[in-house]
Amino acid sequence: MLLTRAVHPGSLPRMNYRHAYHAGNFGDVLKHAVLALVIEHMKLKPSPLRFIDTHAGIGAYDLGSTASTKTLEWQGGIGRLIGPAASPIPADLAAVLAPYLDVVRSLNPAGRLKSYPGSPLLAARLLRRDDVLVLNELHPEDQGTLRATFARDARVKILCIDASLAVKSLLPPKERRGIVLIDPAYEERDELQQVARALSAALRRFATGTFLLWYPIKDLPPIEAFHAEIDQLGIGKCLRADLYTRAPDTPERLNGCGLLVVNPPWTLGGKLARLLPFLAGRLKNGPAEGWRLDPPRS
Ligand code: SAM
Repeated sequence: MLLTRAVHPGSLPRMNYRHAYHAGNFGDVLKHAVLALVIEHMKLKPSPLRFIDTHAGIGAYDLGSTASTKTLEWQGGIGRLIGPAASPIPADLAAVLAPYLDVVRSLNPAGRLKSYPGSPLLAARLLRRDDVLVLNELHPEDQGTLRATFARDARVKILCIDASLAVKSLLPPKERRGIVLIDPAYEERDELQQVARALSAALRRFATGTFLLWYPIKDLPPIEAFHAEIDQLGIGKCLRADLYTRAPDTPERLNGCGLLVVNPPWTLGGKLARLLPFLAGRLKNGPAEGWRLDPPRS
């Protein structure tokens, strides 16, 4: 571990969210399956790359922890894909999910799901010796856990700064090849707008970077407003992948999630066209199953 920077406690934004309550849920499944595909694609070139996680969380999760056991959200996510109660995954989808699920399986060698990788551990398992991981987490306690998890990994730099500063100060990466995951807690009312602004600032510094931006879906109007704002940025190559586990019509409830992938690997759209309908069917919590991919693939 190379670098740690502290923030003054008085300057912390609202930070009630702890990812331990949600690790392995349907949102993580979409985010982590796509992140694994992006990393695998970028590894096709031998030159080193940098993974920047602006909201890293604690890195790895114990599904038997008090937090996890309280919500059991993972049972509606990763638990529906692997584990004794999950039905087999069709072979073509198993191949698409393999980079992600192989890491989850490797953490659970006895077969029973006990551990789940956060984005930092997933990336650390998939990346190579010369690649670099920059993991930023603002919550002081979670940052301490994250630091302990990667204490022996010399590829990892841990930061504790506000994510909006991170996207400005860390880009462009020295390697000029990189993946930036922007995965906020969405505790603030205007966080979608903040994220759109952060993406705009990031793209000014690193126009060729691959960015993954995760967002929650409760009802659709704020999401459409967010995408209208993103459209204004005039990004050339961009994929929107939305997954609904319930009809997206109630602002009080998390009904789905989405991922915006800027400068995606050219193979990703085709894979998402197969993956999204499968995940929508497998992870749905009611009669409605839904997904959306823009631009659509035939
Ligand atoms: N990326 C993680 C994963 O997939 O395993 C999950 C991240 S979780 C959704 C969001 C994290 O952002 C929380 O751990 C929270 O403490 C942290 N966070 C909240 N506000 C932040 C800020 N302004 N800057 C950096 N991190 C922040």
